[in-house]
Amino acid sequence: MVSLPGAHVWSTPLRSRFRGLEVRSGVLVRGPAGWGEFSPFWDYSDHEARRWWAAAREAADDGFPPPVRDRVPVNVTVPAVGPERAAEIVRASGGCTTAKVKVAEAGQSAGEEAARLEAVRAALGPTGRVRIDANGAWDVETAVARLRLLDRAAGGLEYVEQPCARVEELAAVRRAVDVPVAADESIRRAEDPMAVVRAEAADVVVLKVQPLGGVRAALRVAEETGLPVVVSSALESSVGIAAGVALAAALPELPYACGLATVQLFERDVTDDPLLPVQGFLPVRRVAPSTDALAATRADGETQRRWYERVRAVAAGERP
Ligand SMILES: [Mg+2]
Repeated sequence: MVSLPGAHVWSTPLRSRFRGLEVRSGVLVRGPAGWGEFSPFWDYSDHEARRWWAAAREAADDGFPPPVRDRVPVNVTVPAVGPERAAEIVRASGGCTTAKVKVAEAGQSAGEEAARLEAVRAALGPTGRVRIDANGAWDVETAVARLRLLDRAAGGLEYVEQPCARVEELAAVRRAVDVPVAADESIRRAEDPMAVVRAEAADVVVLKVQPLGGVRAALRVAEETGLPVVVSSALESSVGIAAGVALAAALPELPYACGLATVQLFERDVTDDPLLPVQGFLPVRRVAPSTDALAATRADGETQRRWYERVRAVAAGERP
């Protein structure tokens, strides 16, 4: 039986549907080094969620490695919304000059995606950077056709994130198009992240702290792959985002804007001082929840029960 003194189960509606979710929730845990977050998506098994728990314990018990920079450039994330809303999100982004646009949403046409990208390009201006994320939804043929169209609509794509699900498919897309390919799910849910490197399937790797088991574990993956890294969030509260910022701050090189400006997608956060971009950057700092924000985000009894059950399943036998 795990005891979690001072733990907090939070829950917040999202401003727009994202990754099929309308509500996001998770657990905050407290330790000698500060607050940590455990918030695996519900479709992750207990086995997969063990790494997410290790990340929460690292933040709470050990803290983070020393930073080599004091702020981190971030992109604005544009969900699969219509063009007017997409442009609004970019304009309200806190000065982000890079946008990541979700594509391959079920039920949407290529035309709708192109219209969203044109609107984002218009809102960013010619010097902005536009990347897209298909979350592995396309087959190779669709990816190749769609990328030609969307590259034009966006006025040039910085890269496409996870166009297809499988590593061999990423490699095939990468051989067929000029748009650089970034691997996300192929790293995050893989037992062997190096498969991407061996197959020459990606130009960039997307690393997320919780799925990789913490900041130090993610730094090791970054070093092993030897590819440029984009640090992204797993749609965490500001407490979890601070761990992503710590990873981005500790990487020797950071050539791309990171996907860490996602607290913007939440209606509420667990702190009154959220990690939101200023002039396109997040500051490198820890986050502590605030009393009012904790009260406002406290999950209902059923959600609390589900999370504590999950923590017990994942942490069972981990520590004496
Ligand atoms: Mg992604």
